[in-house]
Amino acid sequence: MTTKDKDRTPVAQILETQCTKCKLPLTHMVVTHNSEGFVERVQCRTCGSEHKYRPEKKKMVKKKVAKKSRATKSRKPDAAAIFEQLAEKFQDKKPVPYTMQGSYQADDVIDHKTFGKGIVTGMLYQKMEVAFADASRLLVCDR
Ligand SMILES: [Zn+2]
Repeated sequence: MTTKDKDRTPVAQILETQCTKCKLPLTHMVVTHNSEGFVERVQCRTCGSEHKYRPEKKKMVKKKVAKKSRATKSRKPDAAAIFEQLAEKFQDKKPVPYTMQGSYQADDVIDHKTFGKGIVTGMLYQKMEVAFADASRLLVCDR
């Protein structure tokens, strides 16, 4: 049974919903409908109290969860963390002094006179992406 159907349970019929007094999901008898034909008031079969029917808000909960995961994904990767990971992975490689004329390939370890040690993470036409301790930079090569 879907939530929508449940909200339209006929008067004098039974549905399960949260009891405001018992603080538990319990069976309730439908007392009145509103003008749109939805359940408006219910009576708890356990404690006998009559109260407003509250449709379940499962969709709201789902939305919140989705927002949370999206926020986590949008967080930018930390340049320092990436560099540390790569530096450890290629710690046995001897850094090659960087020059604009040099030819490099991904995973090469270079030694830049300004930025220091860097690891080539990607190649473009006459350019390469290098991860340094503070940031990722595009350097020219193959000139
Ligand atoms: Zn109750």
